[in-house]
Amino acid sequence: MVSCEAMSTSLAALPEEYLPRDTADVVRTVRDSRPQPLTVRGGERSVDSEDEPGPPDRRIVLSLRRMNRVQAVDAEARQVRVQAGARLSDIDRTLAAHGLGLPIVGDHREITAGGFAAVGGLSTASHRYGMFSDNVLALEYVDPEGRFGTCGRNHHADRFHRILGGAGRTGIITALTLQAVEVDKDHTWLTSDAHRFLDFDGFVEHTIAAIEQPGDAMLQVGRWVDTAPLRVSRPVGTGNIQLGTVRFGQWSSLHPTTATTTLRARRELGSRARKSLGAIASAAGGRAGMPVRNAAAGALMFSPKVLTLRDAEYLADTVISTSERGPAYRAAVFAPLSTYTAVFHRLHDLFSEYRERNECFTVISALTYGVRSPYLHDRTGEDHGFISFTCRLRPASAFTGRTDALREITHAIDDICRSERAHRYAAAE
Ligand SMILES: Cc1cc2nc3c(=O)[nH]c(=O)nc-3n(C[C@H](O)[C@H](O)[C@H](O)COP(=O)(O)OP(=O)(O)OC[C@H]3O[C@@H](n4cnc5c(N)ncnc54)[C@H](O)[C@@H]3O)c2cc1C
Repeated sequence: MVSCEAMSTSLAALPEEYLPRDTADVVRTVRDSRPQPLTVRGGERSVDSEDEPGPPDRRIVLSLRRMNRVQAVDAEARQVRVQAGARLSDIDRTLAAHGLGLPIVGDHREITAGGFAAVGGLSTASHRYGMFSDNVLALEYVDPEGRFGTCGRNHHADRFHRILGGAGRTGIITALTLQAVEVDKDHTWLTSDAHRFLDFDGFVEHTIAAIEQPGDAMLQVGRWVDTAPLRVSRPVGTGNIQLGTVRFGQWSSLHPTTATTTLRARRELGSRARKSLGAIASAAGGRAGMPVRNAAAGALMFSPKVLTLRDAEYLADTVISTSERGPAYRAAVFAPLSTYTAVFHRLHDLFSEYRERNECFTVISALTYGVRSPYLHDRTGEDHGFISFTCRLRPASAFTGRTDALREITHAIDDICRSERAHRYAAAE
């Protein structure tokens, strides 16, 4: 057995990081660290930890990045067994050699199988394949007491569902068996069918129709952006001028198409332009870089006309890896399709009113798509739409750090969910 490496940092304020190489290492680390709780991380650097370093009592970090092997592919059964720290992009590459692929992958290449399963995991293919966790067949885990166990769809199913989506609090996933699908992501060509809207009502109306009747769309996504009225100071004593608000939405469905030589050439050009924009956006730090990063975000809405399935899955990673930074309030819900329209309008009105009343938010944006999850369907008897709002906090706002105000808005969201039978995608905030 390889011993577990601990990397103590010289600064006491930084967490101690453990890098287990196998399940026995994980067991020992959990047992040795008790009763102090551990923070579990999937990969190299937690995407989510950048904005929020985590609670101060969680000073021991256990990262599974060295447990990253794709252990076995059963091509006939379309199954793959992986260690929890394996990156989805690496699993997908291994599967491609067998004519297979993962049905759901996250929007950037560093996401690990254990980390994604632990949050549920959604993508723009969720209207076909549900959540990443719907495609997990079995798990190996270490529980908070340091005991090793196994579970699966038909074996300790309660425990299985508690650990999936448990965000590391209900057990540390050490290995997973995943369901793959037959697909050639590098040679499946998609063409984008985009609809643009200047009014929110029209956007939501189109969105619900497209979620209910996706046709042969392989990927689908709707984005809405609503900037705060921009105020510019006039010369002293003459007040402000208001430049107005930009309100804009786009729904995109990506359908299979046949690749011609011209299409391939256009795709090559488009992908080069997006990579350059991504590099510029990544380099443009601080407040001064905001316009560049916003331009990169805009480019996402104008996704290319043709691209391969693999390019489309990682479009956000190519264009906008570091653009969406800064303090924000986030809320994400699964709304049953029968109440989807009401939920979307009520959340939109809630955030807009808060912005008007408290001047707390700048840009309010929303992302949405369908989710046909067998797990959610079993609980409610319906398919769902995913609706996620991101409200950028005004930097000098009295709202920043005002936990009572944030609590109030959170309660209002909970009321909407209760009355419309929607569910929070809880840990997403
Ligand atoms: C709640 C939530 C939902 C998200 N949903 C999506 C999404 O649908 N699509 C998308 O593209 N991105 C999503 N993200 C952003 C990000 O891509 C995911 O968090 C992704 O899981 C990050 O993968 P990671 O391997 O870096 O995990 P981390 O960021 O390190 O961990 C993510 C969460 O899983 C826990 N965790 C990590 N590894 C394990 C493990 N082996 N066993 C048990 N728990 C573990 C962590 O403690 C943490 O709570 C989401 C983020 C959050 C917080």
